[in-house]
Amino acid sequence: MIFLGAPGSGKGTQAQALVPNLGIPQISTGDILRAAVKAETPLGLEAKAFMNRGALVPDEVVIGLIQDRLVEPDVSGGWMLDGFPRTTVQAEALDQLLEKLGQPLEAVVLINVPEAKLVERLTGRRTCMTCKRVFHVLFNPPPTTIPFCDDHADCPSELVHRPDDSLDVVIQRQAVYRDQTEPLISYYEQQHKLHSIDGDRPAEAITGELKAFLG
Ligand code: AMP
Repeated sequence: MIFLGAPGSGKGTQAQALVPNLGIPQISTGDILRAAVKAETPLGLEAKAFMNRGALVPDEVVIGLIQDRLVEPDVSGGWMLDGFPRTTVQAEALDQLLEKLGQPLEAVVLINVPEAKLVERLTGRRTCMTCKRVFHVLFNPPPTTIPFCDDHADCPSELVHRPDDSLDVVIQRQAVYRDQTEPLISYYEQQHKLHSIDGDRPAEAITGELKAFLG
C-alpha cells in the first residue's frame, strides 16, 4: 500500500504505527535519502542540495532506489510506501515495476490535513535520526528533555530539527506537493484505489480508523 499526503500529514507516523499490526515494512524514500546524505555516499551527495531547498530529488534517482528496495527479501510479503511516488512519472514507473514483480497495489491512503496545520506541525517537529520517531515541541514533546530521544533505552540519539523543516523550506515543500504530487490523487482515484481519511485528528484515532479499514 501507499501513503499519500502533504509533508507533515503523518504518513511516516501512521506507517510506523501499522508495522507491528500488519507485519510488513515501511519504506520511506525520505529516510533512505537522509541516511545516504549522512553517510556521504554518492547518492547522498547528489540528493542533499535538492532536499535542503525543498525540491524533489530527480525521478530516475528515486525510481532506482525503489526498484532496488522492492526486490529485497523482507518485502516479499508486502510493504507500505511512505513518500513515494511523488510525481506522475514515479507512479507510472511503480505500476510497471509492480506488474513485472506480479505484486498488485492494494490501497492508496490519502491523509488530508489543512495546509496551515501542516506548516505548524513541521516547523515544530523534532526527529530522532536513529529510530525515526517524531515529536513536536508543543503538541507532542519528548517525555524527558530535548534534545534527547531517551524514553527508550536502546535509542539515546539526538533529536534534530531537520534542515528542511525550517519555515521557508516548508513553504516550498508544500508548493512542490501541490504542483507535483497532488495530481496523483486523481491518478489513483481513476484506478479506484484511493481511500481518503481526515488527518486533522490525534494520531491514535487515525491509526484506529486505518486498522479497521485494512482489516
Ligand atoms: P520526506 O521525508 O518524505 O518528507 O522527504 C524529504 C525529502 O526527500 C523531500 O523533500 C525530497 O527532497 C526527497 N524525497 C523523498 N522522497 C522523494 C520522492 N519520492 N521523489 C523525490 N524526492 C523525494
